[in-house]
Amino acid sequence: MEAGKSLDLDVFGARLPAGGDLTIPLRVLHGRRDGPVVFVSAAIHGDELNGVEIARRLLAEVRPGRLGGTLLVAPLLNVFGFLNRSRYLPDGRDLNRSFPGSNRGPLASRLAHAFLTEVVSRARVGIDLHTATRGRTNLPHIRADLDDPFTRDCAAAFGAPLTLHSKSLDGSLRAAGRKSNTAVMVYEGGEAQRFDESTISTGLRGVRQVLAHLGMLRKNVRSTWSTVSRQSAWVRAPRGGILRLTVRLGSSVSKGAVIGEVADALGRDPAAVKATVSGRVIGMLLDPSVHQGDAVVHLALPESEPLRWDAPFSESRERRR
Ligand SMILES: [Zn+2]
Repeated sequence: MEAGKSLDLDVFGARLPAGGDLTIPLRVLHGRRDGPVVFVSAAIHGDELNGVEIARRLLAEVRPGRLGGTLLVAPLLNVFGFLNRSRYLPDGRDLNRSFPGSNRGPLASRLAHAFLTEVVSRARVGIDLHTATRGRTNLPHIRADLDDPFTRDCAAAFGAPLTLHSKSLDGSLRAAGRKSNTAVMVYEGGEAQRFDESTISTGLRGVRQVLAHLGMLRKNVRSTWSTVSRQSAWVRAPRGGILRLTVRLGSSVSKGAVIGEVADALGRDPAAVKATVSGRVIGMLLDPSVHQGDAVVHLALPESEPLRWDAPFSESRERRR
């Protein structure tokens, strides 16, 4: 493929019952300068749409003639889920628990295998874009293995409001990346089935900064810092009923603080929802109907030392060029 050009591909996933092909839309941007291969993917859970828009805006602004390395962008991994407004594939399988997959398995397994062999295994770094599951919302944050220094530096460059250390779940795209020496970070933010402007712009800036960190882009980057957390905990509903939360995403709460209330339809027998640890709200339930024990607020325990990243190309140097 010619340097400085882009190419649109449909990665073959499986044959459909009516005879057509199920494919994953992919754009390959082959830069003019040398550099690493990086992929950006979204909607592996078909109803998580903020990342779709992040990927589309990225495609609209990156010029392969000015790029270093190769950028692989797949804005819509789970086309079936997207059409059905569902996290899953039609058989109920979760594509993000189907890696590494196989070219002889069921649909989810075939799609996972195709994406792994055609995209993930060719890349040194991957950014997989997510939102909270339906009925919940997440503070924009990165989840990554911060024990790996290379991944940690990429996460620092992303500069999300919070960076959560986590090991990958079995069967996930992130776990599959580990085996092919691809450092995969997950960006989480906002709600399913919505576009949220601040989550989208934070995510787009983060992706740009990772590309700048890797020497692929030179514009529109700035130094950042991010709160680090190595541990998180869910606060659960003390009883079933109707939930009213009094915290917001990003709020810091102390252990034992009242952060909401659950009562019945007539307001009887109210029970306080209390923070079980001191931490920052990174996820919360939006659906007020709860059962006893439902996870309602996700708290991250921040560390004292933030992640810092210095932009390699300052704005003033950029202007002189
Ligand atoms: Zn997801």
